[in-house]
Amino acid sequence: MEASGTETEGTKMSFPEHLRGDGPCAHCGTLDNIVWFTDSAFWNTVVRGGNPDAMDKILCIPCFVTEVNNRGVDPTGWHLIPEFPVRYVKTKGL
Ligand SMILES: [Zn+2]
Repeated sequence: MEASGTETEGTKMSFPEHLRGDGPCAHCGTLDNIVWFTDSAFWNTVVRGGNPDAMDKILCIPCFVTEVNNRGVDPTGWHLIPEFPVRYVKTKGL
């Protein structure tokens, strides 16, 4: 069965507050936005239109992916890795 792309209140999840980032997404306003980053050159191309001096903004991952797609880039998937895997292993016992 293919996902419909819609969400009901019954299935909607919010991030715990301690997982939220620095501010709301500039496009959709969500606070459910982890601290995340991508390659600077890629960010500058997608968000700043190739101008590294252009005004920066905070985007959530879905809005960033949408911006990427709007520029004609359609990857088959995304690679998500933790920034501090060693700390995570020590605190979570994994
Ligand atoms: Zn957003």
